[in-house]
Order: sequence, then C-alpha cells, then structure tokens
Amino acid sequence: MAGRLLRRVALACLGPALMLGLGCNNILGPSKVDANWRSYPGLHFMLYVRPGSFAETNQALLAAVLDDQFATTLARLEIAYGGRISVFLYDSAADASLDSDRSGMGYPDTEAIRATCAPPLDESLVRLLAHESNHVIQRNAMGLPGTSFMSEGLASAVMSARFYPIGNDRLWAWTASRGAALPAVSTLIAGGAWDGDDTTASASFLAYLLDRAGPAPIRQMYQLRSEDLPARMRTLYGRSLEDLERDWRAFCGK
Ligand SMILES: [Zn+2]
Repeated sequence: MAGRLLRRVALACLGPALMLGLGCNNILGPSKVDANWRSYPGLHFMLYVRPGSFAETNQALLAAVLDDQFATTLARLEIAYGGRISVFLYDSAADASLDSDRSGMGYPDTEAIRATCAPPLDESLVRLLAHESNHVIQRNAMGLPGTSFMSEGLASAVMSARFYPIGNDRLWAWTASRGAALPAVSTLIAGGAWDGDDTTASASFLAYLLDRAGPAPIRQMYQLRSEDLPARMRTLYGRSLEDLERDWRAFCGK
C-alpha cells in the first residue's frame, strides 16, 4: 500500500502509555515499506511480518490478541468500524527506523500501523500494538480528536485484559502509585509538552469516566478543543473538572 501514499501529515509525536517508546499519529503512511514481507490475513488485521522473524513465529497469537482488542475497543466505546488494519511488524528499531524496540506509529487515514516487534511477547509489546491500533479505530469511528488528552489517552484507556494484564486495574494501580507526581487533568487537557506519563494519566482518567458513565459523554467530548472541554464536562457529568479529578484520584486510591 505504500506506493499510493503521497504525503505524511505529522501531528505531534506523542508518548503512549506505561513505559513505551514513541507512539505517533501521522495521518498518512507508512511512507516507506519494502517488499520483504509475508502477509497473514486475519479477521480485523492484515499482519505483515519479516520472513522467519519473531513476529512470524507468533503471528497467530498476535492476531488473536489484536482481534480481541479490536472487539473490546468497539464494545467499550459503542462505536462501529468495519475496516481491516494493516500491521507492519518490524524486527527492531533499526529495521523500522523507529526510536526503540518498543515503538510504533498509527496511520488512521490509511488504516495502517507499523511497530517494532522484538521479543519478548509481553505486556509492553501488546500494549504498544493495542495503542496504535486504537488510534486507527478511534479516529475512523469518532473523527479527529481535539486534544492529545483524547487522542493519546483514549488509545490507552480501553485495553483488553483478556490475554495480558494491561486493563483498568493496571491503570488504577499506576495512578495511585504516582501520588503527587500525577499531572493535573487541566494540564493534560491543555496539552503542550507530552510524555508517556501524560498518556497514561489521561488514559486512567478517561477509563474512570467510561467506567462511571459509559461511552456517550466521551464520544461527545472527543473532538472538542482544550478550551471547550471543562464546560462540556460539567454539563455531561454534572460535576466540575476539579470534582471529577478528585473523584478519580480517590477511586484509584481505594
Ligand atoms: Zn499514540
């Protein structure tokens, strides 16, 4: 599919959740995909792996994990998306021209992701692939996110815990462990400089809101700009942003 990719419109290159490398949101791409791939068609994903690679050895399990995540994302957000995502799994950071062996990028407009897929097949690898897949699913189903808080946070807020313990319990525990180091939600909504902790904190807060009131308010806030979010939140939840933040921190601390 690379040949028809004309341009890459780069948004902010943002850190995804919990100790991962970069997870960016380029609209179109990947722009350079060589011919050295084997493809494995699946239900919701087409996996492209290097011949004889770790990814090829594990392609069946990876497909099962991703299909489960796909269904989880649609169910949690009550959204529809019928596309099939092309997943380019590289051997290493050098092979992928990415920053680390746990690094990836999602391309919503071309329904593709690329990521390093180096051993072991652990929580961080699954979380990375789920996060990038969620970028593609969410943007196609819900439109353009108005903030990094929504774009990055929601991509990590709906993780399935069926295969690996990367679900909400992990988010609550992480949030409680951060204590005073946890960034304020108003800071997350404002955006600006961004790192992996910002993604995880946003994911935790959004997962809490999903748990509390379901996906409809989240969908209504997804495209809003920073300046419009607090007022809409008060309307949708009947609580101020500060009150919701206190509720969330107390919930995670239990
Ligand atoms: Zn991301």
